[in-house]
Amino acid sequence: MRKPVMAGNWKMNCDSDEARELADGVVAVAGQVEAADVIVCPTAVALTTVAASVKNSKVAMGAQNLFWEADGAYTGEVSAQMLLSAGCEYVLCGHSERRGRFGTLDEADADDLAAVFGDTDATVNRKARAALAAGLKPVICCGELLAERQAGNTDEVVVAQIKAALCCISAEDCANVIFAYEPVWAIGTGEVCDGDEANRVCGLIRATIAGVLGDQVAEDMRVLYGGSVKPDNVEGLMAMEHIDGGLVGGASLKADSFGDLVKAAEASAAG
Ligand code: PEP
Repeated sequence: MRKPVMAGNWKMNCDSDEARELADGVVAVAGQVEAADVIVCPTAVALTTVAASVKNSKVAMGAQNLFWEADGAYTGEVSAQMLLSAGCEYVLCGHSERRGRFGTLDEADADDLAAVFGDTDATVNRKARAALAAGLKPVICCGELLAERQAGNTDEVVVAQIKAALCCISAEDCANVIFAYEPVWAIGTGEVCDGDEANRVCGLIRATIAGVLGDQVAEDMRVLYGGSVKPDNVEGLMAMEHIDGGLVGGASLKADSFGDLVKAAEASAAG
C-alpha cells in the first residue's frame, strides 16, 4: 500500500511574510494528518521561514530546484546540502517550468518565457542523483507538451524522460524518489487531464520503472499527478489505481483549498 502524498508547489509566489502565513495555515488545516504525506515547496528565500512554521508538524518542506555541485563558483545556485541544512526533506527536479524547450531566449514564445531555464533530461538526472546523495528526496517531474500530445507522442516522451531520470539511480535509492506526471498543457491552465488518461500515463510510468528496476520498485513507487488539481476534481484523481497523490500549484496557495486536497489524499488511504 503506497502512502498518498499531497505536495504544494508555491512557484515564485509568497514573500517571507506571506510564506509564513500560508505555512502556518497549512499546518493548521493539514498539520496532523497521519495517512498522507504533506509537502510544501516555497521559494528558496522563504525556506528558513517556512522551516520554522512546519517544525514539529507533519508538514514536510521541499525546495523547487537545486544545483548538483556541493559548493563553488556557481552564482545564484543552491546545493542539495544547503537545502538540507535549511530544513528541506524534498526537492522538485525537472518541473516543466524549468525544463528548457528553446535554444535561445529569442526562440521562446512570449507567453512561455518560464521555459527558458534550460533543464534537460540529463541535468534533471544529475539533480536527482545529487539530491539522493545528500539525503534529500527528489520529486522528479515529467510530462508532454501540448504539441507532443497532439502529435501522438505522449508515451514516447514520457518513457524517455523516466528512463533518463533513472540513470544510475539504484533500486534502493528509489525508496526516496517520487515521480510526478505533469502534462505541460494542464499546468496552470485550469484544464485537468481526464482521470482515466492521467491514470493510464501514471501506469505507463510505473511500467517503465518496472522495466528498469523491477516490479517491486515500481509497485512501491509513488506517482503523483499534477495539472490544475483542485478540490472539485481531486477525489476522482485520487481514486485512480496508479495516482498516489498530487503536485499542486494554484490550489496550494490558499490554506483552505490545499487543506481540502490533503483531506482527499488522507481519505483515499482509507478507501
Ligand atoms: C504545478 O505547479 O506543478 C502545477 C501542477 O500547477 P497547477 O496546479 O496550478 O496546474
